[in-house]
Amino acid sequence: MLFSGGQDSSTCLAWALARFARVETVGFDYGQRHGVEMQARQTVLAGVRAAFPHWAARLGEDHVLDLRGFGAVGRSALTTERAIEVTERGLPSTFVPGRNLAFFVYAAALADRRGLLRLVGGMCETDFSGYPDCRRDTLDAMQVALQLGMAREFTLDTPLMWLTKAETWALAHTLGGDPLIDLILEDSHTCYLGERGVRHDWGYGCGTCPACELRARGWAEWRATERRSEP
Ligand code: ZN
Repeated sequence: MLFSGGQDSSTCLAWALARFARVETVGFDYGQRHGVEMQARQTVLAGVRAAFPHWAARLGEDHVLDLRGFGAVGRSALTTERAIEVTERGLPSTFVPGRNLAFFVYAAALADRRGLLRLVGGMCETDFSGYPDCRRDTLDAMQVALQLGMAREFTLDTPLMWLTKAETWALAHTLGGDPLIDLILEDSHTCYLGERGVRHDWGYGCGTCPACELRARGWAEWRATERRSEP
């Protein structure tokens, strides 16, 4: 399970724990500006272990891989002091070229060593940040490349691929009820700027970067739907 400590990967972690007998997590240190997420992932893991004993039994080792060399090549607004904007190529300046591809190569090499064949990631192309390596087509090609290149029948699971951010909150609620929602709100980290000073109703963050905007809008939409469905 590619686990960054954000809202999406925290929801994906619950999805995996609800399905599989053994789940190991992997995080990547690629020199991201929001290095606070490396701390958030530990807090979320500890929270899951404390609040969900039946999942804790399935939760195996956590791995952190050093991809700083890769991060230094990409030089995006996620890894350098650069404005968060849309570039002349029509891509967000937060795009780290090939990031998810590199993540899956490393995750697959680790999974090969650990005897695991399913790789789970929180990529999503519905409330799309515009990252071409979040597309399912990209990951379908990656899955074939990993199967051929490592002679392993890897499956790349992306349970959030076709969900809106509001639907992702709803999925978290279905999987773990209010305790999981509270854990994600309090402990998961999404903000690109690594801001954790202010607690909004949707969690911590600067409130204005694209990641915060997506998270806040999804939360508001989900809350509105929930209120309508309450008796
Ligand atoms: Zn933010």
